[in-house]
Amino acid sequence: MKIEIQSFKDLKNKYNLSENEKAFKESDKTLPISITSHFLSLINLEDENDPLRIQVFPSVLEEEENELENIDPLEEINNSKSSRLIHRYESRVALLTTDICPMYCRHCFRRRFTGKMMGAISNEEICEAADYIQKHPKITEILLTGGDVLTLSDSKIDFLVKTLREKNPKLIIRICTRMVVTAPSRITNSLIDIFKKYNSAPFYLLTQVNHPRELAPEAIEAVNKFLNAGIFALNQTVMLKGVNDNYDTMEELCNKLLFNRIKPYYVFQGDLVSGTAHLRVNVNKTIEIEREMRKRLSGLAMPNFMLDLPKGGGKVPLSDCYLKSFENNTYTFKTIDGQEREYPHIT
Ligand code: SF4
Repeated sequence: MKIEIQSFKDLKNKYNLSENEKAFKESDKTLPISITSHFLSLINLEDENDPLRIQVFPSVLEEEENELENIDPLEEINNSKSSRLIHRYESRVALLTTDICPMYCRHCFRRRFTGKMMGAISNEEICEAADYIQKHPKITEILLTGGDVLTLSDSKIDFLVKTLREKNPKLIIRICTRMVVTAPSRITNSLIDIFKKYNSAPFYLLTQVNHPRELAPEAIEAVNKFLNAGIFALNQTVMLKGVNDNYDTMEELCNKLLFNRIKPYYVFQGDLVSGTAHLRVNVNKTIEIEREMRKRLSGLAMPNFMLDLPKGGGKVPLSDCYLKSFENNTYTFKTIDGQEREYPHIT
């Protein structure tokens, strides 16, 4: 994997930056700057509003302060059982396997943790997490997240998966990674062989693709390696201003994902994370896009549009309301194209 840009100085020296990009100032509050050669090759560098560029080139707008935002709107810290294990929902936990990513997305919702250069989870922390899960039998799933879990070495991933499976052979493991679009060469046969070795329960690949152009042939080939090993792929998109907040782009993205055997799973409304307001889309607009996608997309291609509520309120669907009323034992619904239909109450 080749990292083309490793610092803001590097970026300023190599590329013509827009006024907002140039005015960015690095501090311990901002995310580091890192862009992989692969992702950079997909950007139209002539266009300062390119939808891939604005996800990874920093902007002075990240410094804007908004009293409704904070660094941990989902209250992950309050729900942490250790510095690395988050237990917010009864049936599943998230393990922060590393804070490192090959490329830092300016919309990252976990800025409080990502890119702080703490590095990989230790073997002791892995064992503690596996013990915790064993003591809580209602936990059926773990999300291996971060940072990007696939920045870990093959030997660390092997130890991690082996330890989790030894203690909890039926635990479903979600591999949450953006590496298939940021650095697809990381998806090697030897990496896939590790997952194949520990197959007492399913793995699921959870990608983050925000724009159809990110699904380059190399990314599709990387996902195919998981699919061919029997690992089902799902995608979580972040709703981003100037990236995918229009009907045609969202339609193309969902259809392209589905065609490449990646199920569009969630589209997330941007969380109220400090420094990300300039990329956030109005909730009304997200609901409008959801409504239009329900007309344009097949059921298979249609993702769930979700809002992760502030103060740890959990996820709720962001959707138009189709049930209009219930009167005289009759439900009245709105159809997708705005007409009305009735359905009887059955006792
Ligand atoms: S890859 Fe994920 S964790 Fe890393 S910066 Fe992007 S959104 Fe954040």
